[in-house]
Amino acid sequence: MASHDNNARDRAPHLDTALVNAGRRKHFTHGAVNSVIQRASSLVFDSVADKRNATAGRASGELFYGRRGTLTHFSLQEAMCELEGGAGCALFPCGAAAVANSILAFVEQGDNVLMTNTAYEPSQDFCSKILAKLGVTTSWFDPLIGSDIADKIQPNTRVVFLESPGSITMEVHDIPALVAAIRAKAPEAIIMMDNTWAAGVLFRALDFGVDISIQAGTKYLVGHSDAMIGTAVSNARCWDQLRENAYLMGQMVDADTAYVTSRGLRTLGVRLRQHQQSSIAVAQWLAAQPQVARVNHPALPGCPGHEFWKRDFTGSSGLFSFILKQRLTDRQLAHFLDNFTLFSMAYSWGGFESLILANQPEEIAAIRPGCQTPLEGTLVRLHIGLENTDDLIADLAAGLARIA
Ligand SMILES: *Cc1c(COP(=O)(O)O)cnc(C)c1O
Repeated sequence: MASHDNNARDRAPHLDTALVNAGRRKHFTHGAVNSVIQRASSLVFDSVADKRNATAGRASGELFYGRRGTLTHFSLQEAMCELEGGAGCALFPCGAAAVANSILAFVEQGDNVLMTNTAYEPSQDFCSKILAKLGVTTSWFDPLIGSDIADKIQPNTRVVFLESPGSITMEVHDIPALVAAIRAKAPEAIIMMDNTWAAGVLFRALDFGVDISIQAGTKYLVGHSDAMIGTAVSNARCWDQLRENAYLMGQMVDADTAYVTSRGLRTLGVRLRQHQQSSIAVAQWLAAQPQVARVNHPALPGCPGHEFWKRDFTGSSGLFSFILKQRLTDRQLAHFLDNFTLFSMAYSWGGFESLILANQPEEIAAIRPGCQTPLEGTLVRLHIGLENTDDLIADLAAGLARIA
């Protein structure tokens, strides 16, 4: 198995080529270019022998029952495994379900989860609200802790949960240092990562020793802000347990959503390149504005952990944040946010359109358990879409003028 993997990696196509072709075997396309949309709950067996074969192969791509997936799902799962280098990919109705069920698959009463304090807020809340009720404790680590994470590992730490860059404040982990320290101290611990920002392809988490790479496919995989899905690509060590737990928790996604996710993959390479180029252009412009204290774009110096992004990632997506020198009043903030023409206010990101959200320093502090360094000014998070950057910059310039 291992030698096969190595050979496959040596021969691996470039990312753009893999994105175009992954999961498009004839078995899944039936002669079309794209995978079939096979909507099904029941899958019909022609004979007792067929039913027996389907049952034996139900976890490995045999059509068995809708909750195990259809050809549409199998095509997407195969594509994700190829793209992220995994042994299996579990599909979920959204990213939050992928995070919750991946953790749940590996913990039991008395265990501890160690999570970055910059994780997506609902991921933190799942631990502190749901897992707490099940007798699973959560402790938190600073995203830049590096190998000192060893000091945070308790004898009962079962899952270590990473997210890089950090939610909203964009700190990039030193993942090789974290993984080495965790493996040395707790070889049995399962290392999971929320890899949504890199779309699973700009940071190959499993190649860095992470066990499970989780994405809100809702963001870049779908790419058009019109569907929700979660993916968890696992290495061989964790796949059986993740798959069976997800199955027993009833986790699946409908065939239509699996299809639009596969379709999103085909343009992911070009979209990400444009998100990278445009977001860097906008971030550089912002960094030169007198009202801006700091820009947290992983691809630019000045972002905490930028050196790790440069070393470990192969590119950037379009989400970053900046911090104003000033803490805006509620009135100023509304005047600033309510009057953009191209930036919409909305949760989520990763689509073709630009988005803006803002957080006051105390709001950031409230979702950073154990964080010692609150911000001073108002934080603004941008998702840079596929619009022309001159137009986006003009919109932002007008926004900054409103609060000058
Ligand atoms: C959006 C998001 C999620 C949750 O995904 P949903 O599909 O909205 O449930 C998880 N992690 C990160 C980093 C996200 O941005």
